[in-house]
Amino acid sequence: MNDKIWLSSPHMGGGEMKYVQEAYDTNWVAPLGKNVNMFEDKLADFSGASYASALSSGTSAIHLALVLLGVGQGDEVIVQSFTFSASANPVTYVGATPVFVDSEEDTWNMCPDTLKKAIEDRMAKGKVPKAIIPVHLYGMPAKMDKIIQVADEYNIPIIEDAAEALGSSYKNKKMGTWGHLGVLSFNGNKIITTSGGGALLSDDKELIEKSRFLATQARDAAPHYEHSHIGFNYRMSNILAGIGCGQMEVLNSHIEKRRNNNVWYRELLKNSKGVKFQEEPNGDYYSNYWLSSICIDPQKCGITREELRLKFEEANIESRPLWKPMHLQPVFKDFPFYSTGVSEQLFKDGLCLPSGSNLSSAERDRIASVLKETLVIN
Ligand SMILES: *Cc1c(COP(=O)(O)O)cnc(C)c1O
Repeated sequence: MNDKIWLSSPHMGGGEMKYVQEAYDTNWVAPLGKNVNMFEDKLADFSGASYASALSSGTSAIHLALVLLGVGQGDEVIVQSFTFSASANPVTYVGATPVFVDSEEDTWNMCPDTLKKAIEDRMAKGKVPKAIIPVHLYGMPAKMDKIIQVADEYNIPIIEDAAEALGSSYKNKKMGTWGHLGVLSFNGNKIITTSGGGALLSDDKELIEKSRFLATQARDAAPHYEHSHIGFNYRMSNILAGIGCGQMEVLNSHIEKRRNNNVWYRELLKNSKGVKFQEEPNGDYYSNYWLSSICIDPQKCGITREELRLKFEEANIESRPLWKPMHLQPVFKDFPFYSTGVSEQLFKDGLCLPSGSNLSSAERDRIASVLKETLVIN
């Protein structure tokens, strides 16, 4: 049997160990230290945000963002339905209710018009939403200027879930820097990884300083342990931040390779009429193409998404249906949802293709031979 080809696997650059070794040699094996500070500086520099705080996961970053914005019991938070569950779960951690908004056709992300309708309907029902969480799915930027325009009209802050979009940009501004707070993830499958980790980005110094304070158990200045806030243990380890520092050295090359995978898939499937890619709608959009994703019309392609996925599986190649929308998840089915019909269609016919920055040409050949059997029309 051939080795497994993963959807997206960790890809070390080689420079990580020197930072990890330094932390070890200087005994900074703790959730603070030089690597944590350096990683934060590198993230802020790269993204163009003024400040970054390194945390234990993207999920904890979203949780802290909600706490920082004062979201609590009984509040409502608007969340993009077409996302991974970690965008929505933290809303429930603070006792708030997620209100799901569907996607638009061109970006596959939160539809600004439907967002407006949702806000107006929630207000008519008696509540102004406390925050909005748009997502840049698979690296594709959401239409942030339009979303911000709507949010500003009602004075609602934005937590931008850029967990999949490090290095993507819209109108030359990096994703994660559009909202009041931006969220990054360094989980094992993301474009760079610290094995597990996350970060908050912001131009608001006070918010970022407070995020560091809350993430380290909210210890007030006193010789004994003194607490006037509920704290969390959400800070990133100095060892893992060392991996992050090394990964930052190869981030641009990872983005280039992922974008190159996308070009390769597109070229391979260029004559396949029933295949639709998630693609940059115009030159304003720059996706890191974390995952290359397609939607297939079973009538035109003569194969369903699931049949194609199973063909890949037979060849020991991982592919995955597009994320199942939150409003269809058993755990979230009773929460409000504002539909466009887009995410349900995408979930029905869509597939994420192997997209690692470490795909070898031999692996590409194996992927191509499955696609040639099924989808390629010359
Ligand atoms: C990965 C991911 C998260 C969560 O990040 P973790 O670091 O795994 O906790 C949040 N939102 C989206 C869209 C993600 O893909």
